[in-house]
Amino acid sequence: MIFQTIIEPFRIKSVESIRMTTPEERAHFLREAHYNPFLLPSDKVLIDLLTDSGTSAMSNRQWAAMMLGDESYAGAKSWERFFEEVNDLTGMPHILPTHQGRAAERILYGYLGGKGKYFFSNTHFDTTRANIEFSGATAIDLPCPEGKNFDSDEPFKGNLDTAALKKKIVEVGAKNVAAVILTVTNNSGGGQPVSMANAREVSGICRQYHIPLVLDCCRVAENAWFIRHREAEYEHLTYREIAQEMFSLADAAVMSVKKDGLVNMGGFLALRDQASSDACTNLLIITEGFATYGGLSGRDMEAIAVGLEEVFEADYLHYRIRSTAYLGEHIRNKGVPVIYPIGGHAVYVDARRLYPHIPPHEFPGQALVCELYQIGGIRSVEVGSVMFGKYDANGGFVPASQELVRLAIPRRVYTQSHMDYVIEVFDEILRRREQVKGYRITQEPPFLRHFTAHFEPFGAPA
Ligand SMILES: *Cc1c(COP(=O)(O)O)cnc(C)c1O
Repeated sequence: MIFQTIIEPFRIKSVESIRMTTPEERAHFLREAHYNPFLLPSDKVLIDLLTDSGTSAMSNRQWAAMMLGDESYAGAKSWERFFEEVNDLTGMPHILPTHQGRAAERILYGYLGGKGKYFFSNTHFDTTRANIEFSGATAIDLPCPEGKNFDSDEPFKGNLDTAALKKKIVEVGAKNVAAVILTVTNNSGGGQPVSMANAREVSGICRQYHIPLVLDCCRVAENAWFIRHREAEYEHLTYREIAQEMFSLADAAVMSVKKDGLVNMGGFLALRDQASSDACTNLLIITEGFATYGGLSGRDMEAIAVGLEEVFEADYLHYRIRSTAYLGEHIRNKGVPVIYPIGGHAVYVDARRLYPHIPPHEFPGQALVCELYQIGGIRSVEVGSVMFGKYDANGGFVPASQELVRLAIPRRVYTQSHMDYVIEVFDEILRRREQVKGYRITQEPPFLRHFTAHFEPFGAPA
């Protein structure tokens, strides 16, 4: 007997109340937040799908491990536990603990980068690109062409375009390529997975040209689920073995353990080669901390060591991927345009197709973000012209290439009834779709404006 209902493979020992709000209250809170949910206090949010980063619920085993934290400055027991876990997973001998992913990126890309250097990736995550560009180097995205089609059902839309990679390496000269970065899953590319075949091919190209391959492995466990279920030769391996095989193809790895580490803060840099490790360790000691704790306390390292084991448990991963797909497939069946197939950590709604009457410069994604909060108290994030739109030299608006809204699912936090509620909210979203108006920006900072910009809906009283 195979049951259809996928239950959460845990029971709840400690709870955190969420405060119910009325539509009238939410209209008031939204106005006070200048129609930007980043400016909402979290206690005014019913279901928070802003990010899956650092929002996981820890297990009883992780909390118990925290009590074993050894806070010695050097050579702590907790460091040994952390080292053994990360070393076993990545197969890399040099492990540098950092306070989060971008600290590992700053160290590695600062070391490899610099003026005149190039980085190629399936898609650089925004902090990755920022750290590369800060070093003076250039970051170029080479996503596979099928990733641009939101409706087709290719299994690995997160892949890197290997033909384009070979062409680019020849074009800029192999000695000017600082590294190739494979982001698994491809966060900025809709959370789509990367196949082992693609990773193997990318690795082969890198070895041929003596270019280091870096795995940005924030969601390597979720990616392993897709490989096992979509790449025939991997169905007999465990998820952890699949991840280990992927690490074996790379020369270095950076991880924000705020994702698949199942903790609220932390990261690491793993390296194969001694010379890079020596150079990066110097930078670690200057900016993060001594080599055996870096940016972490002993208790953090204990919780990460346990989280990196739990995240590969078959029941957990199955629940994780299926529950994200549950939300995505249900709203898609109602007629909500989403990126398909559904990725591992989030559902991406195509706001341009949901609101075809709202032009990009009136921010259809922001309109949906506000609707989700107004109707259901749900917090989400715009990934479109608010985040990536620019102004040209004449002050003309240049929209982003797509207008998406991301519903990111925190790990082990919400139950199926929370998701059923979100699905129901979309009924009302669809009912009101033609009345929804666009937004104008009334105040914006020079950088990263999505965090702090103020908005106003068209047609609102001044
Ligand atoms: C989150 C993330 C990072 C950065 O990690 P932080 O812990 O937020 O600094 C880098 N790459 C990818 C793919 C990410 O998802």
